Amino acid sequence: MIRENSQLKENLESVKGRIRDAAIRAGRSPDDVLLVGVTKTVRPDIMRNAYDLGLGDFGENRVQEFIRKADIINRECRWHFIGRLQTNKVKYLDHRVSLIHSLDREELARALQARGERIGKVWDVLVQVNVSGEDTKAGVPPKDLKDFVRAVAKLGNIQIKGLMTIPPYTEDPEEVRWVFRELRKLAVDMQRERIENINMEFLSMGMSNDFEVAIEEGASIVRVGSAIFGERV
Ligand SMILES: *Cc1c(COP(=O)(O)O)cnc(C)c1O
Repeated sequence: MIRENSQLKENLESVKGRIRDAAIRAGRSPDDVLLVGVTKTVRPDIMRNAYDLGLGDFGENRVQEFIRKADIINRECRWHFIGRLQTNKVKYLDHRVSLIHSLDREELARALQARGERIGKVWDVLVQVNVSGEDTKAGVPPKDLKDFVRAVAKLGNIQIKGLMTIPPYTEDPEEVRWVFRELRKLAVDMQRERIENINMEFLSMGMSNDFEVAIEEGASIVRVGSAIFGERV
């Protein structure tokens, strides 16, 4: 984990530079790729420094840690929830979260809908897809995606804004290029269905070890932790 602000600045600039280069290589505008800094286990003071260095989006994967930090960071940042979400924890996200990346099952959709009705909120969500089919990964199987999206689209307090995936871990990001390409294809397929109340604005894919490949394959949100904040302890 980093300690020095100078190191944080260097890491952040390096990641932003790599995002820019990957986007340009792919003939895309760097502005079309949103960097979410993944801050699980990162101290709030370091997060504030990151914000002051220009990082405006933070991602957390555990509700407890998320709400603790959201209450003390004291900056106008946007919060992304990127981990598995238990239905009984939905209420803690309420007015704090900008985008939930991990809608992965109907039970969770029902819980979000019920909470949304109660507090008068429409949740912006991405549907997590288990493209690689690993047993250990959350996410809707690609073959079920269309039915899932159609069902969620009927829920008025949930707005689907795109798809998210987590590929298998690998040293060589070329090995998971197909996963990113497949998610992009699925988004195009969904768009063609012209389902009311959904859009495919965001593709959340790419982490520290593979975000450049993800951008080449169309990522519009990358979730980067250790490349910015150092190895997690
Ligand atoms: C931890 C995490 C990341 C970031 O991982 P790094 O390899 O540190 O960049 C991205 N997405 C999710 C869902 C995560 O849990």
